[in-house]
Amino acid sequence: MIPYLSALLVLIGLIIHVATLVPLRKLILMLPAGSLRNKWLAMTGLVFIFIAGYLGYIVVLWGKQTGWQDLPIPAIFLFGAMFVWLTIALALQTAADLQRISLLESENISDPLTKVYNRRYLDRRLEEEVARSKRYSLGLSVLMIDIDHFKRVNDTYGHQGGDTALSTMGHLLKTALRDLDVVARYGGEEFMVLCVNTGIDGAALVAERLRHLVESHPVEIADASGGSQTIQINISIGVAGLSASIDSKAALIQAADKALYRAKQEGRNRVVVAAHDEPAKAAI
Ligand code: GH3
Ligand code: MG
Ligand code: MG
Repeated sequence: MIPYLSALLVLIGLIIHVATLVPLRKLILMLPAGSLRNKWLAMTGLVFIFIAGYLGYIVVLWGKQTGWQDLPIPAIFLFGAMFVWLTIALALQTAADLQRISLLESENISDPLTKVYNRRYLDRRLEEEVARSKRYSLGLSVLMIDIDHFKRVNDTYGHQGGDTALSTMGHLLKTALRDLDVVARYGGEEFMVLCVNTGIDGAALVAERLRHLVESHPVEIADASGGSQTIQINISIGVAGLSASIDSKAALIQAADKALYRAKQEGRNRVVVAAHDEPAKAAI
């Protein structure tokens, strides 16, 4: 009776260890290659060692248990297996929850069509950057970008064609700018770029580079017959920088907007820099 009971407890522990391999595999597959993944792989090795140890206990010590006093050890084997299983199942659940939260967070701040930041994120970042730039006397400029005659793209190639042009724009802007700069979709076919630590002269150069890039990069749009067409799109850009008179988020946006309006008035496909004065002094 006692030997059977001991073997049964250890056998259940063994089965639990084998079952642990399932959540362990899922967890490892979720992780990118690297040190954390390697540690979990080492954990898998340990589980195999436990499995061998439990098997060895059943085979080698079969019939050696004679009284109730011999049962605590098989019981510890069982609880040990339960502990390992619970630890790994909880780790898997925690990793899955964190992955879900980080996905939700990124969805919360990005625009699904263009894959750049959304307006909500831009508003928050702009507020923070204005405060930081004023505090430390750093340059801060914004580019207000608007696609020229975008309505015509929609009218000619349909809304889906327009959407393709918008997502191409998002991709172009993201790849052309520094990681530090913030690219966001401001509205329908308007984008805003926040050039962090950049004065207005530098931002004007960036704007001209972007204008030229978009102009020289044809957009491929699928047509109804299954083929595709390439079209050229142009952008107009209004540039404004933080200065003594433009010293708030609202003033910065307004100045960039006005400059953009002038770019449209003056014939589109161009960059207009807002009137500016001395850079703002640091707050004491
Ligand atoms: P302008 O050169 O003066 O900027 O002319 P425009 O035609 O670009 O400007 P307008 O404001 O008249 O038209 C903007 C168009 O952008 C109208 C709207 O249908 C389109 N639009 C806004 N959001 C989206 C979108 O998410 N997808 C598509 N396909 N079109 C959009
Ligand atoms: Mg517009
Ligand atoms: Mg437009």
